[in-house]
Amino acid sequence: MSLNKKSVDDINVKGLRVLCRCDFNVPLKEGVITDTNRLTAALPTIKKLIADGGKVILCSHLGKPKGEPKPELSLAPVAAKLSELLGQEVKFAADAEVVGPNAKAAVEAMKDGDVVLLENTRYRAEETKNGEAFSKELASLCDVFVNDAFGTAHRAHCSNVGVAELVDTAAVGYLMQKEIDFLGNAVENPVRPFVAILGGAKVADKLNVISNLLEKCDTLIIGGGMAYTFLKAKGYEIGTSLVDDEKIDYCKEMMDKAEKLGKKLLLPIDTTITKEFPNPIDAEVAISVVDSDKIPADMMGLDIGTKTAELYADAVKSAKTVVWNGPMGVFENPILAKGTIAVAKSLAETDATTIIGGGDSAAAVNQLGFGDKMSHISTGGGASLEFLEGKELPGVAAANDK
Ligand code: AMP
Repeated sequence: MSLNKKSVDDINVKGLRVLCRCDFNVPLKEGVITDTNRLTAALPTIKKLIADGGKVILCSHLGKPKGEPKPELSLAPVAAKLSELLGQEVKFAADAEVVGPNAKAAVEAMKDGDVVLLENTRYRAEETKNGEAFSKELASLCDVFVNDAFGTAHRAHCSNVGVAELVDTAAVGYLMQKEIDFLGNAVENPVRPFVAILGGAKVADKLNVISNLLEKCDTLIIGGGMAYTFLKAKGYEIGTSLVDDEKIDYCKEMMDKAEKLGKKLLLPIDTTITKEFPNPIDAEVAISVVDSDKIPADMMGLDIGTKTAELYADAVKSAKTVVWNGPMGVFENPILAKGTIAVAKSLAETDATTIIGGGDSAAAVNQLGFGDKMSHISTGGGASLEFLEGKELPGVAAANDK
């Protein structure tokens, strides 16, 4: 997949109607936005389009209205908040059908530099099916399309793919550009040594990621719940630890693949064990640390051990590029977060380019206070995983090449 995409810096939008797909999927509580991060993150692209004299028409989905206008998932509160953040009016086009009389009139009346926000694109059932009619309606509103919503880039919907195919110019915004630069280019063309770290609950969730990263990286580090299936594949007793029995052969294949490719595949050499899974998840638990081949039959591994944490931190020290997806243990519990903290700390301390996949890993890094020490924290969970799998992302592919 070409990752050399036309960006908002490469186009001239003066006097043109620009439809900009943003990620305004913000958390709402009784109509009040509880976290405005996604809105502030969208501002640089919006401001650039305003400064260039475009007529800026914003659109996004919010939650899952499943093709019906649900008032509690209206983007009206986003328009109000964005007006505040931008310091200029963001006119809200309240059409249940998204592209309706209000949207058309509002766009018709726009002057250069004005901003309009359309209603939740998922009010339309065609949106998530990439239906042609809705894509055409969106395209009829604009001359140029800009996609700045990475979170949905792994999906082909009307508002990110359908519409892009119907306009002459489809570019990416700054947020998308940053995701492409870090996740795409770093993985496809990394400065070496390239160390990839994978954790999280299950091997099955990350089959393709493991396989693809093994080809691209120099060292692949495995931690978290998925490590125990690898340890079982090595013939170790893993007690009552999390295991994907159906994936044992797959783990063996991956170990063979690493050997054939001459790649280092690091597995935990020791592990933090408990009698039971903590309930609630942050309850106090009694732990001990044993070598990975000495897990008693009635105990479960819930974090990497201290020697492993050192081994992994050392591997990170020698890297020039590090990609991390998935916690090393049950990080929600402070007693079982030590391995994840040690790895996060090693990433925070290195000069290497450090890239955190979205979802749980991003949450873990932020929650542990290391967020601002990373080169890039992806904003898309599913989309970042698919990038790491080496898949073509429809939302990225739909943008014009430079
Ligand atoms: P994922 O969504 O695949 O990234 O998995 C994240 C979840 O994996 C977190 O909620 C962790 O608590 C959980 N996890 C990490 N290590 C283990 C483990 N050894 N056993 C069970 N769950 C784990």
